[in-house]
Parts: sequence; C-alpha cells; structure tokens
Amino acid sequence: MNYQEAIKIFRTMHDKLHAIHHALGVVHYDAATVAPKASAEGRGKTMGIMTEMSYNIQTAPEVKEAVEWLLSNKDQLTPAEYREVTEFNKSNEFISSIPMQEYVDYTILINEAEDVWHRAKNESDADAFLPYLEKIFETNKKFALYYKPDQKPYDTMLSMYEKGLTMEQADKFFAVLRSKIVPLLEKCMSVPQVRCDFLSRTAAIPTQRIFSDYLMEVLTINRDNCGIGETEHPFTTNFNKKDVRITTHYHEDALVSSMYSVIHEGGHAMYELHSGDDLEGTFLSGGVSMGIHESQSRFFENIIGRSRGFTALIFPKCQELFPDVFGDVTAEEFYKAVNKAEPSLIRTEADELTYALHVLVRYEIEKAVISGDLAVKDIPTAWNNKYKEYLGVDVPDHGHGFLQDSHWSGGSIGYFPSYALGSAYGAQMLAKMKETIDVDKCIATGDLAPITAWLEEKIWRHGCMYDPGQLLEMAVGAPFDPAYFTDYLEAKFKEIYNV
Ligand code: ZN
Repeated sequence: MNYQEAIKIFRTMHDKLHAIHHALGVVHYDAATVAPKASAEGRGKTMGIMTEMSYNIQTAPEVKEAVEWLLSNKDQLTPAEYREVTEFNKSNEFISSIPMQEYVDYTILINEAEDVWHRAKNESDADAFLPYLEKIFETNKKFALYYKPDQKPYDTMLSMYEKGLTMEQADKFFAVLRSKIVPLLEKCMSVPQVRCDFLSRTAAIPTQRIFSDYLMEVLTINRDNCGIGETEHPFTTNFNKKDVRITTHYHEDALVSSMYSVIHEGGHAMYELHSGDDLEGTFLSGGVSMGIHESQSRFFENIIGRSRGFTALIFPKCQELFPDVFGDVTAEEFYKAVNKAEPSLIRTEADELTYALHVLVRYEIEKAVISGDLAVKDIPTAWNNKYKEYLGVDVPDHGHGFLQDSHWSGGSIGYFPSYALGSAYGAQMLAKMKETIDVDKCIATGDLAPITAWLEEKIWRHGCMYDPGQLLEMAVGAPFDPAYFTDYLEAKFKEIYNV
C-alpha cells in the first residue's frame, strides 16, 4: 500500500459513512418534527439496516489496513490528515469493540425508546419508560466496558462527550459551583423577587414564529443554511456546514421559553455553520465536543441573550409583536424577569444561576446508576429527593421530573455535565474577549460581528482539530478555571438583586 491508495480508501469510506449519517439524520429529524405518531416501527427497521451498513463500512478490513498504514507513515501526512486518521481510529475502536448485532439492536432500541418517552413524558407515565431506561443504561455500561474494560465505565461515558473528563474532575467542578451558587441563591431569595407576571401572558404561536425569524436575524444566522423545526424538545442537528437544522417548542403562555431555545440552538448552529472550509468533507468538520458546543450555545443564550444590552436591543420588537404581553413593561423589567433566579423544576427553563444545580442532579444519578449504587427503577424517587435537597422544590409529576429531558431516551448518558462545563468555558471566553472587545457595547448596539469574529477565529473554524481542553487553552491563554464562571454569576446576580 502507498499514500495514494491508503488515503483514497480512507476518503471513500468517509464519504460513504457521511452519506449514511446524513440520511439517518434526516430520518431522525423527520421523526422528531413531522412524522406521524405511529410511524416508529418501519423507521426502526430502516435505521437498523442503515446502522448495519455504516458499521460494515467503518470496520471493513481494507479500511483497517489503510488506517494502520496511514498511522504508521505519519511523515507523509499533513498534520490535519494525521489528526483526522487518529480521531477516526479512536471512534472506530469504540464501534469495533461492540458486536455488530448489539450495535444495530441498540439503534432500534433507541428509536423505540424515543417514541415511548414522548408519550410517557406527556402522560407522566414512569412505568412505561423505565424498562427502556433500564436497557439503555445497561447497554451503555456494557459498551463502555467493551471499549475500555479497565476503566470505570462512567469515566468512559463522560469522555465520549467531553474528551478527558473524569468523575474526579467533574466532582471537583460541581463542588466549586455548589459552594458559590447555593449561598448566592440564598441571598437573592432573601430579598423581594423581581417582577415576571407578564412572561406567562398569552403570546400567539404564529407571532412567536415571526419572532424566531427576527431573533435569527439579530444573531446573524444565515437562514439559507439554517432551518427552524418544531419538536417536543429543542435540538440542533447538522448534515454539513451548509445545512444545519435547529428546532424549538412554542408555548402560548411562555414566550421566552421558545425565545431562549432559538437563541441557544442558534449558538450551536453558528458553531457548525462556521466550521473551517478546509475541514469540510473530513472527519474534523464541525464541533469538537459537547462541552465546547454547549459553551457556544450557552454563550449566545445567556452571556448575549440574557444581557441587559440584548434584552434592551430586542425590546422594541417584543413590544411591537406582543403588545398584550409587553404593553405595561419596561426594558429593565424585561431584563430582570428573564434573569429571575429561582429554584424550579425544568432544566431548560432554569435561570443561569440555578441551572448548574439541575445538571448536578442528573450527573449524580447517572454516576450512581452506572456504578451500581442506584437501581434504574429507583431513579424517579432519587430524582425527586435530589430536587428537594438541592433546589428545595417538590416534583409534582414525572413529566416535570425525570422524564423531562430527551437525553436518556436518545441514549446520551454522560452528556449533562457538558452543559455546566460549557457555561463555565463561556464565562472564561468572555473574560478573554473583553480584553480586546467592548462586548457590552457590541451587544447593546446589535453589532455582534466583533464577537462572532472572535468566536470564529478562536473556536468555530478549528472544528475537531484540537482536543477541547487544548482548544479552550489556546483561545483564552490559560487552563480552564471555573472561577471565571462563579465570578460572572456573582457580579451579575448581586447587581440584579442588589445583595
Ligand atoms: Zn445545547
């Protein structure tokens, strides 16, 4: 074998795999958006066959041979090629460690589980979903052990979403957050609460759709390359850098719910849409990890979207579109309302201050289940107890409890810490950005270009070229430090609550 032959096999494999993932992604997107309710069965069969095809393409002996050749002839490869082959090889080692039938069966299980979860959530039916959840946890643990038999399985899972992350690091990180957030929250709760009555006023959904289009425009997202769908749980999916889809969920009595979903998913979309052109058509295109991905979405959602400048910037449009909601409200009241700190039930609608506590609940439950300390059937009780302990709230039903998120039904175990990490990464990026950019002024004037240019230069264009920790360090010139996030929260909430 020589370089030309090896790289040709590798590229052909990439293109075929990408085509199958594209098609699978469209099927999945269709399922979540417009497919009729009772369509899961046929889709499961199709997805099973396509997964088998992708497994075979990826693990073919000639691919293995080409990859081995490329890895042992590093001097003939560009740094990007070497990185690409190395990264592919790692994911391939994971896939190859799983027997094909188990891998295919898992895809079918997830398709069914997502379908059952939708109904279970709406009907608050824990018993319907728990058997699926049990299989999902069990299978994820089994796969983690196939892949890294000598490593703690939950460490392996965490590392799938945030490379290198371990329970030891996550424990320390969450301990820092808890020690700062809990007393700050208590202080905020000890003074009169901000006004937020108007946020539950009726806002017609067709007008909310117009509002979403407006927000995308403010965020400078090119709509020719980014569509908005409607789903139970908002998400972003990307097929290539010219075709990214975000979704939202409209609630007539909670206008800002969709508003912040659009801004959050818009942040994910920006990251994917601005992946480097040189990386397109390779395994290095697109976001590097869920932690970095969430740093971008939560940067848009919170650092930009929940800033005084941004809420003031969009306020005239809010009043124009929703006069019945904002008629007797000031821009300052709007700013404070969207930053109302209050223990609550739903993670995706939690304020910036309490958000990490919601993530902590999920992290501790996942860790306990995977280590064998908690049975899946006891998750609902554990969930409710932890919400009482950390947030002081009573969970009224499972739809507002452990069934609220789509992640577990989609097989994502180990994902949640990425949200809290991403929030903290974003705060450190903001501090660095402020050394050269008047961020507040850019947001207040609606000129996001200097901010997006910074993010594109430091994060987006690099795709998967660097590991997440390395990428962050290159961007901010220092190792990760959660103090930037806790300092940011303290400054922001002490000012809002005057405590
Ligand atoms: Zn997200």
